[in-house]
Amino acid sequence: MGIKIGKKVGVDLGTTNCAVAVLDEKTGKPIIIPNSQGEKITPSVIQFTEDGGVIVGSEAKEAFELGESGCTSAFKRNMGKEGTYCSFYGKSYTPVELSAILLRYLKEETEKVTGQKIDEAVITVPAYFYSKERSATMQAARMAGLNVRQIINEPTAAAMNYGVNHWRENAVIMVYDLGGGTFDVTLVQMKKDSQMVTLSTAGDHTLGGKDWDSRLCGILKQKIWEEAGISSSDYPEIDRTVTRSAEKIKKQLTERREIRVTLPIPGYGRFTTSVTLEEFEKSTRDLLEKTGNLCGSVLADMNMGWEDVTDVLLVGGSTRMKQVAEYLEEKSGHTPLSQVHPDEAVALGAAIQVHQPLPEYTVVTVASRAVPDDSRKNSGLFNFKKKEKVSEPKSPERKYKVDGPVGQEISFDNALKMTHVDVAAHAMGVIAVNTEGTRYINKTIIPANQRIPVKCAEAFRYYTSAKGENEVEIYVLQGEREPLDCQIVGKYVVSGIRHDRTQNPTLIRIQYSYDLNGVVHVQARQGNDTRDLPIREEPVPEDMSKYGRPVEQEEGELIAEPISAVMAVDVSGSMSGQPIKDALKAMCNFVDQFRDYEGGVKIGVIAVSDRSQVVQQLTGDLEKCKASIRSIKSCMTGVCNAGHPFADVLRMLKGEEGKRVAIVLADGVWEHQDTAIEAAKKCHRKDISVIGIGFGSADEKFLRDISHGDMEAMLVAQSELVHSFGKIAQEISADRSRGKHGRGGADSDALTWEAPDEQRK
Ligand code: AMP
Repeated sequence: MGIKIGKKVGVDLGTTNCAVAVLDEKTGKPIIIPNSQGEKITPSVIQFTEDGGVIVGSEAKEAFELGESGCTSAFKRNMGKEGTYCSFYGKSYTPVELSAILLRYLKEETEKVTGQKIDEAVITVPAYFYSKERSATMQAARMAGLNVRQIINEPTAAAMNYGVNHWRENAVIMVYDLGGGTFDVTLVQMKKDSQMVTLSTAGDHTLGGKDWDSRLCGILKQKIWEEAGISSSDYPEIDRTVTRSAEKIKKQLTERREIRVTLPIPGYGRFTTSVTLEEFEKSTRDLLEKTGNLCGSVLADMNMGWEDVTDVLLVGGSTRMKQVAEYLEEKSGHTPLSQVHPDEAVALGAAIQVHQPLPEYTVVTVASRAVPDDSRKNSGLFNFKKKEKVSEPKSPERKYKVDGPVGQEISFDNALKMTHVDVAAHAMGVIAVNTEGTRYINKTIIPANQRIPVKCAEAFRYYTSAKGENEVEIYVLQGEREPLDCQIVGKYVVSGIRHDRTQNPTLIRIQYSYDLNGVVHVQARQGNDTRDLPIREEPVPEDMSKYGRPVEQEEGELIAEPISAVMAVDVSGSMSGQPIKDALKAMCNFVDQFRDYEGGVKIGVIAVSDRSQVVQQLTGDLEKCKASIRSIKSCMTGVCNAGHPFADVLRMLKGEEGKRVAIVLADGVWEHQDTAIEAAKKCHRKDISVIGIGFGSADEKFLRDISHGDMEAMLVAQSELVHSFGKIAQEISADRSRGKHGRGGADSDALTWEAPDEQRK
């Protein structure tokens, strides 16, 4: 089989307990490696002693329960938060440092027991963990000397472990993971060729067994008050006594319907009472319902109902509470499965994952374009012109046919072949300004539940101000609510932006990605550069309240966006004489309208009759452009109208930033109108606005068919040509702040960026 055990491990780094697993050399199945005391589970508790010693695991947990000093636990709940979590004997510890101590202990214990050095690990985290918490976990692992192959989601790991033993193609498994401090619910499907696919995930990482414990504390304190007439204001030790006993009582209630409880209250004496399961269930029903609502939401995300769930898999220590299984059975009509060991399944699944190939990046097409407001004092916030289109969430067909008998074991070889596709629980967005320029919004860049690793196919673009600023700020968010209700991943400052002599707006492209660990990355480049611009992360300002208020007036002004326009003029025989003269005059007038246009303009010119000829490539030199227009002669490309200009239009405008417009002037009927309309539609699909303008015997319907965008086709008198071209130019430039001509389509060749640095090993 060729697998060396002990070198690659799966680690369940739980809020309350940890476990380590490897693949067994003989059977190839994942097994738990106990610690050197023979325990399969190590409590996530640390005790610091006065003489500088550190105790980890059961002994520390016992000390904690006895109320000894120097003990700390549940620090996982604060992962990703800055600052000290606890201080003992003159030293302070952050959640990352505490997790590193725990991980180092697990590593050393496993090495002691297996006799082999660990060289790689997969560590699990709640699916609902944000980018910061995931980065913090990686940092803790590095501090512990662990080489992390991947961070994976706990429910995913549990499902993989379950899948090895109970493979059924098409089965949809709801993994209900209620641990000590977190709750996650995840839908996973077993697909063809041993592929496990996470469909959707949601959770609440402030909800867990500890909340049930505190409800029990409430029940006990109420009883002490009602039955003994005392409270913690009389006997402050009541709080501590009750807290210490609650978890134990909760566990006893999974075995019995009623238990006698005796609590020693210092200063008062012993207090005895009884607690029933019914009381406990009643006081915690809302917590269960919270989990039920989240289950409903992951199903709704996938257009599924409870009837589509093949099995409910219980994971996490708190699913031992009787009411959890009962509640889920009530909801789903299924008896939840508990074939996986709630304390071990996650580590076992991680041990399978550590032997699997790493997933590749997928690309999300965000068909929107951002134009920031440079008047907003270089805030770098984007101003969005168009409703974005993002790739549709996956929506599997309903009611899967599940093959094979229940509980069929997958062969070991297949288990190793088992591939897994995971998703990011949170949408990724940026703080932006709404279309009207009045309000700050959370602009989604990568929707929730996209397969990871994932990146935006097209970078976002925006323009620095003409004032020569060379830095811009971006606030990246996770979540889908208003900016201030979301998790702010970070403030990223893109620097080193170069300006050209013209002081024209500068194009910066931003790319966002979730790496395979669910960590957010931001990259930026200038123009068509292939080098990344330097980005530094700065602390998010404490006062972000401005983003909850309307955009201040001067901040709401909108920037003019660049315009690229191509004019195609019919030069067939019928245009000879005055018509061509009037047409060329009108085209020059069009060019003149852009003299003071702030956003930057490029104009190109095509002559078309039997064939299309580019007379002037796109240029910002307006005099040169006018000279080229004046050089146009009738019949220069043939006498008849056999050709069309749209292939050249497409080529000229491809890759251009900002508004892209084509104005096509015709005076008669073209020979191959259907071909021309088809070619025009290709331009439309690339979101190029086409304005057909005709005079004389031009075909109005044809002009309408080739036109696309907010401006209508026009049939005008020859004498009105100059005026009409001027009007078109004014509308295009005046329309800038509303972006009616905004280009929404992402060019498929927009970007070919490498994976974020951290992923390049
Ligand atoms: P985990 O984070 O998955 O290790 O789960 C730890 C949580 O499971 C803690 O809140 C424990 O109190 C809870 N737990 C463990 N055993 C039981 C049990 N028998 N009954 C109720 N809760 C339990």
